[in-house]
Amino acid sequence: MTQLESDFDEVRDITIIGAGPVGLSTAFWAGMRHASSRIIDSLPDIGGQCTTLYPEKWIFDVPGHPRVLASDLISQLREQSLEQFDVPVHLETTAERISYEDDHVVLHTNRGDLRSRTVILSGGHGAFEPKKLPVSDIDMSPWEGRGAYYLVSEKSAFAGKRVVIVGGGDSAFDWVVNLLDTAVHITLVHRRDAFRAHEATVAEVMSHVESGRVDLQVPYVIKDVQGDGRVESVTLHNTTDEDAQPLTVDCDAVLLQLGFSTKLGPLKTWGFELDKGAVVVDHLMRTNLDKVWACGDITTFDGKLKLIATGFAESAVAVAQAVHSIRPDMKIQPVYSTNTGVPGAVVGQV
Ligand SMILES: Cc1cc2nc3c(=O)[nH]c(=O)nc-3n(C[C@H](O)[C@H](O)[C@H](O)COP(=O)(O)OP(=O)(O)OC[C@H]3O[C@@H](n4cnc5c(N)ncnc54)[C@H](O)[C@@H]3O)c2cc1C
Repeated sequence: MTQLESDFDEVRDITIIGAGPVGLSTAFWAGMRHASSRIIDSLPDIGGQCTTLYPEKWIFDVPGHPRVLASDLISQLREQSLEQFDVPVHLETTAERISYEDDHVVLHTNRGDLRSRTVILSGGHGAFEPKKLPVSDIDMSPWEGRGAYYLVSEKSAFAGKRVVIVGGGDSAFDWVVNLLDTAVHITLVHRRDAFRAHEATVAEVMSHVESGRVDLQVPYVIKDVQGDGRVESVTLHNTTDEDAQPLTVDCDAVLLQLGFSTKLGPLKTWGFELDKGAVVVDHLMRTNLDKVWACGDITTFDGKLKLIATGFAESAVAVAQAVHSIRPDMKIQPVYSTNTGVPGAVVGQV
């Protein structure tokens, strides 16, 4: 039996839903308080939004890091929490239902039931997925894995390539700027001649359009893709002028940046008090469900800031409360890590 399979027979102190930056810091605080934990996430990799949406962007507002790549921040969190405390991580595992059994919370996942004394929910915006092209455009899904991308997990995938980027929002414009040093040529395609991206980024992209480093094709949509097994060119149609000649753009990759839809999905039916799609918590990060705390982007309260830094702090509070509920003799106030160091793996932790 593998380590993860045997974890289904364990009762842990805390099951953490969500392996984003805040879920990872939750596992760290659990370890510091000698609590056993596990993490589950519906995505195939850890890191939540940092990994899925902007792994190669610099983050400048995590205190202690003048700047850090999102992917590096996740690697450091992996080392600090998962590796130091040997925390099991169940990926592609979605928490679908919650129930209670004796003194335990049971999370019913697509891979089986997981039992723990408490649950900490760090589910971000819920499960998120890239928006596909609107129905009036061509369906790109047959080209996924053959030159069509919805995410950039590694900039090197676009090295030396002619890239068509589709979209008019922040992510499309950010990737035009971020791929300038990687792609050999970039064409930006948008269905309208107005953009939703930040003014400063639009101005930067326009300066590259003027200098000839970027081709801008508006108002156009992709109507056809040509290629023998992989994308080799796309045909663009003008969205306002039916008589305009279609354009053919030779390219090696098409990066579709049409935004992401997020949904709480199964969490909606658990009975949480919700406000605008977020889970209401009190100042102790307590939800209205017994034995369930929450932290990070998924929470809402008066003064809420959706930042990684504030999520880290919320997770420290949530863990202190959850562990105190399991072992009331454990003081809420922490002892300083400068005095204690990092406790070893807790007994029973695989
Ligand atoms: C483009 C962009 C740039 C950003 N830049 C910054 C920045 O510079 N500084 C900053 O502080 N913040 C920034 N943010 C915001 C930051 O990424 C979020 O605040 C942070 O990711 C929140 O972390 P989290 O762990 O709460 O949630 P997430 O990162 O959203 O992770 C939540 C995880 O929970 C999982 N999940 C949800 N529901 C379930 C379920 N039922 N079962 C199993 N798993 C589930 C999801 O799959 C996901 O992996 C940025 C966000 C974006 C999109």
